Amino acid sequence: MPSNIIEASWSSLEHVSQATRDYLNKPHQLLINGAWVAGLQGDTLDTCDPATGEKLASVAIGHENEVDLAVNAAATAFVGPWSALTHFERATLLSRLARLIEDHADTFTELEILDNGMPRFIAELTIKNIVEMFNYYAGAAQRIEGTTTNPPHHITAEAEALTYTIKEPVGVAGLIVPWNVPISTAVLKLAPALAAGCTVVIKPSEETPLSILLLGELTIQAGFPPGVVNIINGYGYDAGHRLAEHPLVDKISFTGSTATGRKVIAAAMGNLKKVSLELGGKSPVVIMPDADLSLVVPGIAMATFFLQGQNCMAGTRIFIHDSLHDECIQQLVAFTENLPLGHGLSPATFFGPLISKAHRDKVYSYIQKGIEEGATLVTGGQIPEGRGNFLAPTIFTDCSPEMTIVKEEIFGPVMTVQRFSTTDLDAVAAMANNTEYGLSGSVWTQNLATAHRLVARIRAGQVSINCHGAIATNIPFGGYGQSGWGREFGQEGLDAYLETKAVTARL
Ligand code: NAD
Repeated sequence: MPSNIIEASWSSLEHVSQATRDYLNKPHQLLINGAWVAGLQGDTLDTCDPATGEKLASVAIGHENEVDLAVNAAATAFVGPWSALTHFERATLLSRLARLIEDHADTFTELEILDNGMPRFIAELTIKNIVEMFNYYAGAAQRIEGTTTNPPHHITAEAEALTYTIKEPVGVAGLIVPWNVPISTAVLKLAPALAAGCTVVIKPSEETPLSILLLGELTIQAGFPPGVVNIINGYGYDAGHRLAEHPLVDKISFTGSTATGRKVIAAAMGNLKKVSLELGGKSPVVIMPDADLSLVVPGIAMATFFLQGQNCMAGTRIFIHDSLHDECIQQLVAFTENLPLGHGLSPATFFGPLISKAHRDKVYSYIQKGIEEGATLVTGGQIPEGRGNFLAPTIFTDCSPEMTIVKEEIFGPVMTVQRFSTTDLDAVAAMANNTEYGLSGSVWTQNLATAHRLVARIRAGQVSINCHGAIATNIPFGGYGQSGWGREFGQEGLDAYLETKAVTARL
């Protein structure tokens, strides 16, 4: 088993740049109407490094009243100078923000590592991706266009007419984000919302507010008018709930668990606001008999253990054909036991800590459940000695569909393997589709016809062939079934913040 390499005296704060230390030492407040303010009750929450337990910063939190102030600011800004900007002027602001993020890339990277525990290579990818995202939506903002269409007969019979459509921003958007990739999940919503012309209130996760607060600072530097971007740190049941139910919020975009997604829908019903949901997953990975094991072994380890398995796309239900099963498991166990585990600041680390002790304990209890229900633990399952919320990457074989670890989203480094003997694609797809979720999935085979036939049968928003979780700025992403409503990324990500108005003129 890999061991936790963090010595008791090692301090992560001594291993980050002066700019990051300076940022951590500043006050962390709420962004309302272009100004940083303390919460009305003056209370704070502490955010800690999950790899060491060290406190990083105290962050002001807001409750219902602060959400109300932020929503009012966003509603006023929506009809204020912001609404008078052209698409091109909005695009210029988005591009300027992208450049400012690039200038602060090292601090963003270090904040994501410190606050979330992610390995450096993921944090660096994330920051590159958010820069790309703002640039992409700066381009998309310039191409927001309606259409002209043939007027209906009952009008043209009497007179000449002209019909066209206009795309307009939805209004005030509430953006509620999780802790697993904090800045990325926020920007996936913020960039298209601003491109569309919406104003926003962001509610970061209480676990990981720091990088989103830095982004807030940069929106001011970039020149977004006051009230266009507001940020309220706080707890979900309180600030998050108020944002979801607020009568002046026109749209909620939520990323988080399916259980919380249901609460968001219930809260949003009051004014029937538009709702987009990016929820949980339990994604299948299907290894057909002709798959190339040299790709499969690192591929499925990455599919399950990327970001310590705290990844909505994680391939956690692995189906391996009998003919490859034993060889694949042997290689996979060896590969997994060599994954470098440690602090995300070290460039060598592949595998960091889980977000909190409470979350690690929850994941650990799933492992106990797996053992009790008869799955075979072939590697991992232990909590390494020492500091931090580490948990060894864990693989169970001999799993079956009714086991809890196969049915429920664990959101941790737990792989479940089921073996199968059929090559009938309907039967294989039925196994893969035996879940309430439908977010991601992958098919591993050297036969292109098999690959495409199987992809067509799998019910998920994203299915990859000989790779897993292939996300990119311009590729739509979202879930079937209980994995969510709507799509993010690409043009569909922008459409989620636009309304279509049809205009017919009798000439
Ligand atoms: P979570 O549902 O606990 O919290 C998500 C956000 O919702 C947080 O900001 C939280 O404060 C807030 N919240 C909590 N209760 C609320 C309420 N009653 N009303 C309004 N807001 C509330 O999720 P998490 O633990 O932060 O993240 C993990 C989950 O997110 C996993 O299920 C994962 O699959 C999912 N996720 C999905 C995607 C995707 O794109 N589909 C991406 C990342 C994470």
